[in-house]
Amino acid sequence: MKKFGLATRILIGLIIGVVVGLILQPAPNVARTYIKPFGDLFLNLIRMVIVPLVLASLVVGSASTENVRRLGRIGVKTIAYYLITTAIAIIIGLIIGNVLKPGAGLTLPSDAKVTPAKPPSITDVLLNLVPSNPFKALVDMNMLQIIVFAIFLGVGITILGEKGKPVLTFFDSLAEISYKIVGIVMLYAPIGVFALIVPVVATQGAKVLIPLLKLIVGLYIGLALHAGIVYSLLVKTLGKRSPGEFFKKASPAMLVAFTTCSSSATLPVTMEVTEKDLNVPKTVSSFVLPLGATINMDGTALYQGICALFVAQIFGINLGFAQQLTIILTATLASIGTAGVPGAGLIMLTMVLQSVGLPMEGIALIAGVDRILDMGRTCINVTGDIVGAVVIAESEKMKT
Ligand code: ASP
Repeated sequence: MKKFGLATRILIGLIIGVVVGLILQPAPNVARTYIKPFGDLFLNLIRMVIVPLVLASLVVGSASTENVRRLGRIGVKTIAYYLITTAIAIIIGLIIGNVLKPGAGLTLPSDAKVTPAKPPSITDVLLNLVPSNPFKALVDMNMLQIIVFAIFLGVGITILGEKGKPVLTFFDSLAEISYKIVGIVMLYAPIGVFALIVPVVATQGAKVLIPLLKLIVGLYIGLALHAGIVYSLLVKTLGKRSPGEFFKKASPAMLVAFTTCSSSATLPVTMEVTEKDLNVPKTVSSFVLPLGATINMDGTALYQGICALFVAQIFGINLGFAQQLTIILTATLASIGTAGVPGAGLIMLTMVLQSVGLPMEGIALIAGVDRILDMGRTCINVTGDIVGAVVIAESEKMKT
């Protein structure tokens, strides 16, 4: 097994799980009693690491606003650009999820099924962003509140300067440790995914596979729309370039991203094409691109939007307007907190699901095909960074 990469092993786990599930169809109870606990173990392992991971990585992420202060105008513009395009990406994901309904036609029972509570009012949603007791937020795994608290911590650390450094170092180290734990937990993922899918297929039959296919197609349609419409328009109007030319020049970075599934690993190529082929000055690219590779993930955001709806649909849960608004907020922040490494978006998806009370079992289904989803979303993550660099460079040109 060792000679296969993790993604392949997870896919193999999924395939074997489907086969075993089909074989066990006459005896679904066997699957539920003897195999499912191994899947539940996987879910617990992921849940275990979410809170420290999200808290620590967001504290560190927001503490690096030190750069923003220094770079003033460029920083504010860049962040605004990133937030707006990310939110648009999630909205595209939600629209596709609502129109295409990738998870419809199949209803899985879930242990963690929440009776969809009456959707809270928008005022409540906004007020509830701020935890009156941050420790309670941590204990309850209230993701939005944890995020808000983390951002406050990060900003506080930055303002304090030297004195804040020890706490920053602590969270930096905690974030690294959390990623290591995720790495360990993921070693168990092939078995976890196997054990989660067996009882599903044993109870539901082969019809569970169709939603997955629809999810893949839906995501790629969404990504293509985001690039074809949003990026093309931005490049043309604000970037003052021809979109065709832009995509042609950006394509080496897009392809590296597609194959490595890592924005961070692609960064050297991204910088090269942006500076050399797209003529973006170093002063802009050296700030906008590394920041973008860390916090700007439109593809991941779009993916989280569509996946949240997918999970809601397969568990027969109806998400109202307020809940979809919560998804836009959490997925924006989750995509910021996502590291530019393969599979990171899947882990952060748990946070989005948690924020609207969706069952985490959905992760298992998605995990089996996540590599295919990761390739597309990473490609768009990197493209979004390059568009950002071009747009910011052009707006700076007008200033001088
Ligand atoms: N692999 C993605 C990236 O590096 C992150 C993700 O998993 O969504 O951009």
